[in-house]
Amino acid sequence: MKLAERIARLDIESAFDVLVKARALEAKGRSIVHLEIGEPDFPTPPNIVDAAKQALDQGWTHYGPTQGLPELRESIAAYISRTRSISVSPRHVCVVPGAKPVLFFSMLALLEPGDEVLYPDPGFPIYRSMIRYLGATPVPVPLLEARGFSLDLNILRDKLSSRTRLLILNSPQNPTGGVIPAEDLHEIAAMVRNRDLMVLSDEIYSRIYYTAEAPASIASLPGMLEKTILLDGFSKTYSMTGWRLGYGVMPEWLVEGVNKLMVNSNSCAASFTQRAALSALAGPQTAVEGMVNQFRQRRDVFCQALNTIPGFRCVPPGGAFYAFANIEETGAASTDVADFLLERAGVACLNGGSFGEHGEGYVRFSFANSLENLQEAVRRIQAVRNDLIRKDGK
Ligand code: PLP
Repeated sequence: MKLAERIARLDIESAFDVLVKARALEAKGRSIVHLEIGEPDFPTPPNIVDAAKQALDQGWTHYGPTQGLPELRESIAAYISRTRSISVSPRHVCVVPGAKPVLFFSMLALLEPGDEVLYPDPGFPIYRSMIRYLGATPVPVPLLEARGFSLDLNILRDKLSSRTRLLILNSPQNPTGGVIPAEDLHEIAAMVRNRDLMVLSDEIYSRIYYTAEAPASIASLPGMLEKTILLDGFSKTYSMTGWRLGYGVMPEWLVEGVNKLMVNSNSCAASFTQRAALSALAGPQTAVEGMVNQFRQRRDVFCQALNTIPGFRCVPPGGAFYAFANIEETGAASTDVADFLLERAGVACLNGGSFGEHGEGYVRFSFANSLENLQEAVRRIQAVRNDLIRKDGK
């Protein structure tokens, strides 16, 4: 037997690969500062953990409705309506195990072979992986460092075609931390409003931002709600990555497709985690605010320190918890820089090229780690930098 041909079209996520390499070095006694994996380093807030324990004691241990518990869909609909200034009903909400299934199911439900999908490059590697898996055509749209890693709107306009079926937006963004300015979203909405396509707006980092205003959502703009799949979830906001709970807000005709895919794959998301999620949305938000304040402080300290190292340049990100450092001045390929930093400095980070061809020349550091560890990482990079910078002095 052999694997079906389509499996070869699926990519992996380099964060998980680098984690394995880093752990192997640690098993040999090396000390590694982990700046590769993209998850908050804080515990899940206690009110959420308590709610899960209570739910287990109360017997929330059985199958539930495929689309999600009605009370949670109600709560998510109210939350999204409030935070995005739109009117969303629980009928539009699909609760799924993690945010990834929102990507997976909505793309499975929408795309035919040959359809074109526009997506940010550098971007979350799963986008391209899913597009290729489905036989659709990936059309990367570069992000511009000079514009805080927002999309190049001219290229976006040029790449829209009669075959474009989906446009993926991600703000705040992985891997760059870029936030799409509200005026850009207005322009994008004007470009796509009258086209026969959907927008998948990945807003998983919606609460983790350092800008004065919360990042805008394209779903809030006139005529866009019925063309948008809004993706969000509990993983990043409430430090619940291992709980696997996310949701999509989408038009009802698409909910039908996603429900069918859910019933064929998962049946439903775990019932007790959904009960805990109710407490996440209804409970105090002080833990979220505390996390974001710490991320902001780490961002400032880490980016400032990185900018003092010759060969490294880092625009402080507007959101998420990633510093996407430009390393072109080192003269080395980003995959070599990432390997070098892991092997020589004991600092695990990700090669920017693993996020797409426009990520070449960068490495991604996650600053979801303690201030002490981030400062240690900078010291380690400083200590080896002379071996990294090209010898011809250019
Ligand atoms: N979208 C983006 C941009 C992400 O960075 C991630 C996780 O890293 C996800 C979606 C997936 O989130 P989840 O862990 O809830 O599936």
